[in-house]
Amino acid sequence: MNNYKNIQQTDITNKTIFIRSDMNIPLTTDNQIADDTRIKASLATIQYALNYNAKIVLATHLGRPTEGSTPDQSTSVRIIAQHLAKLLGLAEVRVLSLDEVATNQWHHNKIVMLENVRLNSGEKKNAPDLAKRYAQNIDVFVHDAFATAHRKEASTYGIASYTKDKCAGILFDQEYKALSKVIHATGNKLAVIGGSKVSTKLAVLKNLAQKVNHLCLGGGILNTFLMAKGMNIGKSLVETTMLEDVKEIIRIMDSKNSKILLPEYVVTTKELSPNSVTETKAISEILDEDIIIDIASQSAQKITEYFKSLDLIVWNGPVGIFEWDNASAGTKIIAEAIAQSKAYSVAGGGDSIAAINKFKIEGIDYVSTAGGAMLEFLAGDQLPGVEILEK
Ligand code: ADP
Ligand code: MG
Repeated sequence: MNNYKNIQQTDITNKTIFIRSDMNIPLTTDNQIADDTRIKASLATIQYALNYNAKIVLATHLGRPTEGSTPDQSTSVRIIAQHLAKLLGLAEVRVLSLDEVATNQWHHNKIVMLENVRLNSGEKKNAPDLAKRYAQNIDVFVHDAFATAHRKEASTYGIASYTKDKCAGILFDQEYKALSKVIHATGNKLAVIGGSKVSTKLAVLKNLAQKVNHLCLGGGILNTFLMAKGMNIGKSLVETTMLEDVKEIIRIMDSKNSKILLPEYVVTTKELSPNSVTETKAISEILDEDIIIDIASQSAQKITEYFKSLDLIVWNGPVGIFEWDNASAGTKIIAEAIAQSKAYSVAGGGDSIAAINKFKIEGIDYVSTAGGAMLEFLAGDQLPGVEILEK
């Protein structure tokens, strides 16, 4: 399925390798780690390389600092290196500057960390000079940051042209294979697409509409579809600029006799607040002052009936304001049913993962942490990070 080499197919024994991970973790207001999921997800490749006695230069970006600025509390990867040392059972993971790494004087350490790549001038625009500096004295470039595979940056793309060898890391390979299964799946397929905006997901919606037999909608996206179908949605979140695109998606689905599963009932409120009074209403009963905040439980339940005879379910985007107790039932029901379904199931998206964690959902076959890269991949785009490994 993959046309690139993965790390297991690559000779890294005793080699000096550059692992580009995505450890771009969220920080608290006092610059502590708010969530270490991305660090933990990167461990498999690091452990694997340590087992093969590779000398590792580990690189990641953190936040969006100005290129050329000096590292400080909020932009230095030191906090990541400290946590990593703990997780790996090492006394220390040293953080080195690019110049220090290039000297090759660090080889008494098994692993060192390069300071935040986004502090380097030329990182974002993939400057060849910077890519060459990253590659200096490196035998193998290991791309493990699938979440950045939609970008062409010096540490994710350019570097690959200057190292002797290159390969995908374990997490990269996992993400690629799970998402490829979605693209190439055969049989009875269903997509659940929710979240706030059609515009951020239009390309995915169009591509998946061509592939799936059933499309289940939620969130602001559902509202936009309802409006396109001529329904009154009151004061609900909607994107009127997307109506023509939505109509095209409806046409794509109709033309191949695929079904858009719209809820019959939704949860409405008069005031956007986690404590506001809600009413369950039929779509046809929505008044001008109503705001749709979730799909109703009974409709969510009815939609999940379809989940029983599927080969594939792909889910991105909560179907309601799942952060609020008064609008979380729809997302919870859908997520639980996806997890219980016998179909191969893949979910992803920042807020979808937050919902999976909030409702303690277990049993979804693959939860992608690749965010924007996942959306571009599911939209059918060739990702630069994949392309450069295939060259
Ligand atoms: P993801 O990060 O999983 O891709 P999105 O970012 O597209 O998902 O959308 C998630 C957001 O959409 C959540 O913050 C959720 O509260 C919001 N949302 C869901 N349904 C509605 C709705 N009916 N009205 C307003 N916002 C909604
Ligand atoms: Mg989001």
